[in-house]
Amino acid sequence: MTATSISCGDWGSPGVFDGAQADSLDETLEEDHSAPHSDVRDSASDSAPGRNGPRGAPVRHHCDHYAGHRFAHLERRKYGGEVVDACIVGAGAAGGVLAHRLAKAGLSVVVIEAGPYWDPATDFASDELSMQELAWQDTRIVAGANPLKLGHNNSGRGVGGGTTHFTGVFLRFHESDFKTYSVDGVGVDWPLNYQDLEPYYGQIEKEIAVSGPRYFPWGPFRGPYPYPERDRLSANAWMFRKGCEALGIRSVTTPLAILSAPFDGRPPCINRGFCNQGCMPNSKYSALIHHIPKAIAEGAEVLSDCMVTQIEVDPRGSVTGVVFHHDGKEYRQKARYVFLCNFVVETPRLLLQCTSPLFPDGLANSSGMVGKAIMPHSSHDMYAIFDEEIRLYKGTPVLATTQEFYETDPARGFARGYTLHAHGARPVEFASGLAEAGIWGKELRDALRDYNYFGRITLVGEVLPDERNSVTLADEVDEYGLRRAKVTFSYGENDKKLIAHAVETANRILEAAGGKPRYVVPDTAHLMGGCRMGSDPRTSVVDADCRAHDVPNLYICSAAVFPTGGGGNPTETVMALAARTADRFLERLQVRGRSSVELRV
Ligand SMILES: Cc1cc2nc3c(=O)[nH]c(=O)nc-3n(C[C@H](O)[C@H](O)[C@H](O)COP(=O)(O)OP(=O)(O)OC[C@H]3O[C@@H](n4cnc5c(N)ncnc54)[C@H](O)[C@@H]3O)c2cc1C
Ligand code: SF4
Repeated sequence: MTATSISCGDWGSPGVFDGAQADSLDETLEEDHSAPHSDVRDSASDSAPGRNGPRGAPVRHHCDHYAGHRFAHLERRKYGGEVVDACIVGAGAAGGVLAHRLAKAGLSVVVIEAGPYWDPATDFASDELSMQELAWQDTRIVAGANPLKLGHNNSGRGVGGGTTHFTGVFLRFHESDFKTYSVDGVGVDWPLNYQDLEPYYGQIEKEIAVSGPRYFPWGPFRGPYPYPERDRLSANAWMFRKGCEALGIRSVTTPLAILSAPFDGRPPCINRGFCNQGCMPNSKYSALIHHIPKAIAEGAEVLSDCMVTQIEVDPRGSVTGVVFHHDGKEYRQKARYVFLCNFVVETPRLLLQCTSPLFPDGLANSSGMVGKAIMPHSSHDMYAIFDEEIRLYKGTPVLATTQEFYETDPARGFARGYTLHAHGARPVEFASGLAEAGIWGKELRDALRDYNYFGRITLVGEVLPDERNSVTLADEVDEYGLRRAKVTFSYGENDKKLIAHAVETANRILEAAGGKPRYVVPDTAHLMGGCRMGSDPRTSVVDADCRAHDVPNLYICSAAVFPTGGGGNPTETVMALAARTADRFLERLQVRGRSSVELRV
């Protein structure tokens, strides 16, 4: 069985030129902010030498983007020689929200992103193998009793970060997620609570037109969502809801960052199911197609294919900017404030490399907590075989969900809880998952032959923070001379009990829907932690405003600051936190009597 290679909708690409045409065009282009994709491809710009895109051609992009301009070089920078107000490292979920809000407030903003500025119309294909390109694929060393699989399933690289190929499940955390220690005596409390984030959850949901049910039965927010729930359920979602209903388990159509009706010049989802390969029609939210182009329209400059390798610090211990690499050369961006939005592995890796007499153990690391207490979600896949076809590749992957097991129930014998999703699977994912679970030879071949008859439920389970689960520096170095990340992870006893309960529940649902449970494929999803927020500088890296305890003009804002991981998908919380961080930062500037306009001069 091979990966399908069919287009997920053909919404056309206005004016796509080939390389030869691009050569004849001037490098300075009028930017179309409603359509963020570069409509000219410049063969002089080879952002990823030696790598091929999904269509076989080398991936080539412009690397400097600001209103009206896209350059294949860094020679005509908007803010090149300036000390900008804010330098944001990483253009993913958090970086996108921050860039948009800070630029809109009138600050000079430069976003520096390690990966390419993707063009959905020409770079994305409904092809599982080639779209692995969207992930962060640099070598990392993994260790621990349950070494993490790193790459496509939990990280993104390029403008949009993980949102470019995320599944789009968009859930708020519950009140108890912010207070696990106070409520259940496990984990740690966040230095803020649900009410602090509530307005930002609402703003983000409206900003990107989240679709979801009229009534959501769990947690403090009961709906309705800004856009109606998706109406075309996949067979797998029908199966899931039927099984839940038979057992008296409530389930809903999943809230999604995927359009159910037109919005902001983008079409509704056409239900083809290639969300994890990038969404060609642009029906699914990503920072690539929403917040980053909007930030550019507000005046931000975005540098892609630029890897930040150092944070520079003055003798008083304030950061002065960053060093980055592009195309074999080293550059600097000076800034009054630096925001690290570069996710869970690369943020600690960068901070730990930045040692100096003032910061001998790495920048912002007086607590010793940089790199500590990383958390995935446990994400086992439960497969059952049915008499009738399910066809797991059809439809948006996640269209039905239950959070009935989200909160702690002492009768279950473990703390905290989980979400279950009806979850589609494309053929390569199906085959490789089974193979990794040890299903091989004739059994694997038979399973692949029966692929159309399998249904699947996936767990998103809370994993408790444990300081031994960490990002540290390996001895081996990469092409920038930076030490590679070593990522160590082992499940704790509570995590294992939670997984066992979730596997049993999912199998009961599959059985109640008429299936015969066949395989359990252990997996993890999402990453959080490594630069935990907290009120006490001795035990945390940043405060509730995401400001580093040790460095007054350094902010860390991404999933890396989560003290605990919740029992549901995290990105809505990442984005709400970024929106709150922007507000708190701007308020602080005003309190200090420096309006954003004054800051600029
Ligand atoms: C396959 C998949 C499915 C997912 N599905 C869901 C889902 O359905 N729902 C959900 O809530 N979440 C989902 N997620 C998780 C979601 O993508 C992340 O929670 C989210 O993207 C995290 O946002 P962030 O801003 O912390 O980091 P990211 O979005 O990962 O952004 C970090 C950015 O920093 C860049 N970067 C890193 N280091 C450097 C450096 N040194 N210099 C410059 N740039 C750098 C990276 O290239 C990246 O673009 C999924 C993730 C994956 C991979
Ligand atoms: S959101 Fe997913 S299913 Fe819908 S059009 Fe985009 S890739 Fe296809």
